[in-house]
Parts: sequence; structure tokens; C-alpha cells
Amino acid sequence: MTNDFKNYRPATQAVRVGQLRGSEGEHSEPIYTTSSFVFGSAAESAARFSYQELGNIYSRFTNPTVRVFEQRLAALEGGESCVGTASGMSAMLAVCMAGLQAGDHVVSASSIFGASKILLAGLLAKFGVDTSFVDMKNLDAWRAALSPKTRMVFFETPTNPLMEIGDIAAISEIAHAYNTDIKVVVDNCFCTPVLQQPLSLGADVVLHSATKFIDGQGRCVGGAVVGDADFVGDKVLGFMRTAGPSMSPFNAWTFAKGLETLSLRMHQACDNSARIAEHLSETANVKNVYYPGLESHPQYHLAKTQQCKGGAVVSFEVAGGREAAWRIIDQVKLMSITANLGDTRTTITHPYTTTHARWSDEEKAEVGITEGLIRIAVGLEDVEDLIEDLQL
Ligand SMILES: *Cc1c(COP(=O)(O)O)cnc(C)c1O
Repeated sequence: MTNDFKNYRPATQAVRVGQLRGSEGEHSEPIYTTSSFVFGSAAESAARFSYQELGNIYSRFTNPTVRVFEQRLAALEGGESCVGTASGMSAMLAVCMAGLQAGDHVVSASSIFGASKILLAGLLAKFGVDTSFVDMKNLDAWRAALSPKTRMVFFETPTNPLMEIGDIAAISEIAHAYNTDIKVVVDNCFCTPVLQQPLSLGADVVLHSATKFIDGQGRCVGGAVVGDADFVGDKVLGFMRTAGPSMSPFNAWTFAKGLETLSLRMHQACDNSARIAEHLSETANVKNVYYPGLESHPQYHLAKTQQCKGGAVVSFEVAGGREAAWRIIDQVKLMSITANLGDTRTTITHPYTTTHARWSDEEKAEVGITEGLIRIAVGLEDVEDLIEDLQL
């Protein structure tokens, strides 16, 4: 059976790429729970270890079930290579360890996932890598922050929780025009390849937290790095071989299955989100709705050029501050009060006191995370039930 599905369309690739069939002729991919693989001879084992011969060696960095997931995601993102990791954060760590060394400089958007910010500003800083944080929307700020030592540019779009958009093509162009050695790395967790493919817009590397929409059912923690064969297929894989924050075969199987239905789930969750965003924008005591699929979003037109729908996260600000926001959250019967996102079940969060609680009041005020802000990560329930669940 051929594993080459290049000429097929994404819906076909999502269910077929990477397909494995063992000696039992099973239709669903087998889960290879084995730590190591057996060789026919000493010479064969030497050839495998030195990469002279391709094949399985040890599940820290080669496992057939993990490979199913990696090939499927690479196809959907349009990348040559993909490496699965134990979590989204270890995907980011793998990219940094593979691409940076002491003395290097990173330019990052300031509104990024909390742990990503701590990884750059806290952890990497200890090892001599310096990061400048810029307002993602300001292209001049990106330009001004680049230096001869810059080796990586990092951002996610849309941002959490205010759904601001980073112009992937423009930021990639600015970085590469300055120095072609700079890796432009985009965390594509919020859009997934169903809505947006950063590599086709000029980025070099895509990161994923597979924990979110790729699993889509809140079961497993995992991540992935997608990009070219030289950086991802060689350097990132080399880091995995040495340091090993590996994806387990069981989790890989779950994520590979998640990819099969990702498009259907994303489109439905986006349609539900758009309906909720419209409803919120017609509600009197809702002051602001942050959703890039609404024409009133300041970057609506930019969003349209790079993502095919608005996404499955809607944030809004209610009049009455924390008291009003907490009252709405405490009254829901259906939505789950939890900070996770990308589940079949809708979640509701108060960013000010949870995901962004460690930010100072000034930092929160600067980006617009107020006490009246609520974030909903929309799932697959009937959208009218979700709207009725919000006692605004
Ligand atoms: C959750 C998340 C991560 C981290 O992923 P984990 O799988 O939890 O390690 C990174 N980026 C974004 C945008 C996320 O939402």
C-alpha cells in the first residue's frame, strides 16, 4: 500500500496519510507499545543506529504509531517533516533547543501563552538567550527589535484571550528580509491546519499543542513541531534522540484519530462560535466582543486573508466588572468552568483571575484583560443551548 497521498485533498489526507497495516490486516492503525525494536544482525543494528539504514530503533525517537500521527499532521500543515512531543510546551522547548544557543536573541509577540512566555523570559534567559517582546500588531516594532543576533521570531495568532491577529506573511517577510537564518515559528494551536497553514504564508516552523483541538476531546497531553527536513527532520529529531520528551504511542494513536475528524469538528465549533459572537454583540450589557469572524473586529480583513473562519474561541467584556462576570460564570449549567480549550464540551473562563492571574494589573490593563472579561472556548453542543446557558 502506498503512503504517498500528496496529490489528494486535505479531507482525504486527514483520514488516509500515514496509514499502517500490520500482519493481521487490521483496518484501524495498530498501537505499537514497545520501547525497542529487534534487528536481524549486528550489522543491521549498526546501520540503523548510524542512520545508514532507515528504520525503527528505540521509541524515544522512532515509533511506528507516533509516525502515523507525524505524517498525517505534516501533510495537513504542508510540511516536509513533523516530530511528535510529550506536550505543546515540550514542542516549544525542542524548537528552542534545536535552533538556539547562548548569545542568540529571540523576538516574540508579548501576548503569547503564559508558559511560552515563561519558557522564553525565564528558562532560556538562564542559558544566555535573550528575548525581546513586541506588540504583535505593530510591524514597525518587529522591524525595530531585530538584531544581528536574532535567530528566532515567535508568535501565535489569534492570541489568547483577546483574539488579536498577527500578520504571518508580513512578519515572516520582515524577519527573512533582515536575515534568512531567522526561523519564523508560529504556534498554530488556535486555528489548526484546518483554518490556517502558516508554512504556506512564509513561516518556517509550526508548533502545536495537540492537547487542544487535535485531540479535541480532552483526553491526552501532547505536541508537535512541523517544518522542513533539515531543521525539524534532523535538528529537532536530534534533540528528541538526545533529550527525549517523547509522545507515547497511545497518545499518538489518539491524536492520529483526532486528525481524522478535526476538520468536521473545527468547522462546527467555528460556526457555533460565530453565532454566539453575533448574539453577544446584540446584547445590551456586553461592552466588547473579541472574535475575528465579526466585521467589527479591528483586524477582520487581515484575519480573512489568512484563516478561513473566525476560530472556536470567543471573548467578551460585560458591564459590571468582576462581579458581573463571576455571576454569569456561576450561573452556567452546561458550560464547564475550566481553563482548557479545544474540547467537544464548551468551557468558560475568567482570564483575569485564572490564566492571567500571574500578570500584574498594569500588564493586564495594557492589553485589555479587564475584570469583566469572559472567555468561551466553544464546543459541539447545540448552539442554541449554549446561548440559553449564558444568563447575560
Ligand atoms: C495549551 C497551549 C500550549 C501548551 O500546550 P500543552 O500541551 O499544554 O503543553 C501552547 N500554546 C497554546 C496557544 C496553548 O493553548
